[in-house]
Amino acid sequence: MKSLQRRKELLSWLEKEGSLSVSEIVTRFGVSKMTVHRDLEILEQRQRIRRIFGGAMALESPADAGAPAGRYGEKGEGEAANCLICFRPATQHLLYSLTLDNGERKMACCPHCGVSAHLLLQQAVKIAITADYLSGRPHSAQHSHFLLGSAAAPCCHPSILTFENLEMAQRFQSGFGGELGRLSDALTFLEEEMTLHREGESCPHCAAARKER
Ligand SMILES: [Zn+2]
Ligand SMILES: [Zn+2]
Repeated sequence: MKSLQRRKELLSWLEKEGSLSVSEIVTRFGVSKMTVHRDLEILEQRQRIRRIFGGAMALESPADAGAPAGRYGEKGEGEAANCLICFRPATQHLLYSLTLDNGERKMACCPHCGVSAHLLLQQAVKIAITADYLSGRPHSAQHSHFLLGSAAAPCCHPSILTFENLEMAQRFQSGFGGELGRLSDALTFLEEEMTLHREGESCPHCAAARKER
């Protein structure tokens, strides 16, 4: 298949199915990972798709592609803080911030650790802000859509990602699996994950944070 044809086909799959993982695309075309990455790069340059961790998804309109995400923490916040659970640097893309009842602000590296922090701090958390996985846009965790245990795990395991928009979350889910829910479902998910799994199988950082409690 010519590369042009392949990209056309790839784009139509993404438009139909929402999102696909790189390994799925490799299997369907029988081409190398490198070829798939190049195809995705070209489609992204044309603002037809957005590449995401381990795959790609179709965009609504070309305007979605390059829109400034309005990521916070870009100025006035100084250096990125470290995650309160696992101590990785909390990067803007996945940032989860918690404001406590004493006004203190805590950062988590990703929604996984954010949810872990809720379990740890409980009622002390007054405000929680999470970043949309696709745009990086900060929004209320209370109103976010949580994708639990999908195959896309850019930070901590098990993967928890947040989406501002339900339709985009469903589109992402079609390619990467996982369960969609709200913050309360994410709390239950992580709590179960930590109690059901034997030592060493769950997130070691979350386990350590809980032990200190
Ligand atoms: Zn963390
Ligand atoms: Zn993380």
